[in-house]
Amino acid sequence: MNDYENEMNFEDRILETAYTAEDSETEFSLRPRTLDEYIGQEKAKEILKIYIDAVKLRGDTLDHVLLYGPPGLGKTTLSAIIASELGVNFRVTSGPAIEKQGDLAALLTNLGQGDVLFIDEIHRLNRNVEEILYPAMEDFALDIIIGKGPAARSIRLPLQRFTLIGATTRAGQLTTPLRDRFGVLLRLELYTPKELAQIVTRSAGILDIPITEDGALEIASRSRGTPRIANRLLKRVRDYAQVKGDGCITLESASAALRMLEIDELGLDNTDRRMMETIIHFYNGGPVGLETLAATIGEEAITIEDVYEPYLMQIGFISRTPRGRCVTKLAYEHLGIPYQPAGASPDQISIDE
Ligand code: ADP
Repeated sequence: MNDYENEMNFEDRILETAYTAEDSETEFSLRPRTLDEYIGQEKAKEILKIYIDAVKLRGDTLDHVLLYGPPGLGKTTLSAIIASELGVNFRVTSGPAIEKQGDLAALLTNLGQGDVLFIDEIHRLNRNVEEILYPAMEDFALDIIIGKGPAARSIRLPLQRFTLIGATTRAGQLTTPLRDRFGVLLRLELYTPKELAQIVTRSAGILDIPITEDGALEIASRSRGTPRIANRLLKRVRDYAQVKGDGCITLESASAALRMLEIDELGLDNTDRRMMETIIHFYNGGPVGLETLAATIGEEAITIEDVYEPYLMQIGFISRTPRGRCVTKLAYEHLGIPYQPAGASPDQISIDE
């Protein structure tokens, strides 16, 4: 274990984009219930509105939808809204939770006409299970093998027409036969600070927290484009404002609370800063291969790709080149480190590219 690994504690990260126990108490009340309440993602919403209206007009079922994008952006929320706008049941499961073909068959045979089946982390479905999804999605039928050996025969069990909504952080990891069976592919984007400020203000209203406009924007601009983080920071800042002040979240109390939590004005925490400093100090600003970087900071490559990188790339602090990741001049400035052009010293090279 190296020093960096020792210092970094990824477990308790407030800026974690995945769902944590801390989110559970308010998860239900904060979820928007209608497309109009769902803030941002205008492009995806516009497309969905057209499909939903058309389906309702024709009395049809919605085509299968694949939602992809980083965690915490509202894929589950949006899927529940689609079902409720269509007036159908919403069933939830996830790729890793379905272990056997029989588990999925049970779910599918219980679906009613037009129901929505939501499979989170669909890229983690096991291949065996995935195979029974193909005829289910395409022909609304289950192919069941009865018996063994030469006497085995296959019978086809009809299913109700349903809509599958798959969510994934990475569309590229889906197998081609599965991806091709989705009629609608929608990518969710990181939210702008203005959109997140609307989300924070809405959540504060539901939780009965007094907040000023600039207080909401302060939390929003430090939430890495992610509603889940924005809601979490709102609750942390509320605690601070109640203990240290009169309970109202203002620009001052928000920035003092976030400073205490070591989240800087761009929403970066120690983990981000250390990751970029590692690239700068160990690899001269890059390029460094993903696997090499992951090994150096003691983190999984997939976590770097899904969780840390999207936001650092969006704000222009990290760039991806064919030879690996580079830290940009902007990031050097932010970290207060004198800029040296990437790859200035060729004696340190990454080993996996
Ligand atoms: P994902 O499934 O992409 O990981 P979720 O749907 O669980 O994300 O969303 C995380 C939280 O963020 C939800 O509890 C919800 O309250 C909030 N949220 C997500 N998207 C929006 C949005 N567009 N408007 C308001 N709140 C949102």
